[in-house]
Amino acid sequence: MADFKVTQIDDDFDFANLPWWDVVIIGAGPGGLAASLTTAHRALTTLVIEAKDLPGGQPQFLYADKKIVDVPGFPDGISGQELSDRTYRQAADAHVQFRFNEELTAIEDTDQEVEGDVLKKVVTSNGSYLCRKVILACGLLHYPRRLPVLDDLESDAVHYRSPRVKDYEGGTVIVVGGGDSALDAAVMALQRGARVEVIIRKEPSGKADTLNHVLELGGNSPYVGVDCRSNPERRCRQCRAE
Ligand SMILES: Cc1cc2nc3c(=O)[nH]c(=O)nc-3n(C[C@H](O)[C@H](O)[C@H](O)COP(=O)(O)OP(=O)(O)OC[C@H]3O[C@@H](n4cnc5c(N)ncnc54)[C@H](O)[C@@H]3O)c2cc1C
Repeated sequence: MADFKVTQIDDDFDFANLPWWDVVIIGAGPGGLAASLTTAHRALTTLVIEAKDLPGGQPQFLYADKKIVDVPGFPDGISGQELSDRTYRQAADAHVQFRFNEELTAIEDTDQEVEGDVLKKVVTSNGSYLCRKVILACGLLHYPRRLPVLDDLESDAVHYRSPRVKDYEGGTVIVVGGGDSALDAAVMALQRGARVEVIIRKEPSGKADTLNHVLELGGNSPYVGVDCRSNPERRCRQCRAE
């Protein structure tokens, strides 16, 4: 029981035969899940449509094992997976309804009016839904750009997301790229005992602090392909050792 007034839909409410929804939310990432809590706690019938088979968005499908430290309320950090699981459970408990493996394709106007709102028709890969309001929380749908040279290896060891601990425990991880996501993934693997090589085409574009952290933790030459000897400020370990 909440210590403030939550107007929640009854447990036995029949969602199966709704003529229209108060709110349809596209995307079950952190944004969509948070929005769904707000609407469901105001007794608005809320449907979340998610293209993937699981809720959680990027924290779930890109960095499930990463310890996230900037989510309010979790001073000791929380993993992407746990954040997703907790937020999803909270939404489901508030009677938010979910459709997974279903992708938004169009939003159309209708000539039906309900309580001052002209109903929208949300068209998905599996059907359509009438609703008063649509919230777009689509964030990121696709994985990072695929590299044919890696795909050609047809290897289970190629990942397009931050590796899960079991993917590399005790092994070597090669991180391709020098942006924030790549450097975060390098830090994460290093902190869990992996040997890490970072391969960067040009100058790294991620945060300088994170880059330094990669080096401090023993990450190997993040400047492969770049003559770092010409830049004394940002020399790789290999050059510093020479
Ligand atoms: C490697 C990495 C590390 C990060 N680390 C942090 C961190 O430590 N702390 C932090 O605060 N932020 C971090 N971020 C950023 C954070 O993940 C995003 O800001 C956050 O996920 C955005 O939430 P969202 O709900 O807007 O979008 P998303 O998380 O992208 O969720 C959108 C959802 O919508 C679905 N969707 C998209 N299109 C459709 C469609 N047409 N139909 C149906 N469903 C659709 C997607 O499948 C997805 O599940 C990181 C990002 C990356 C890539």
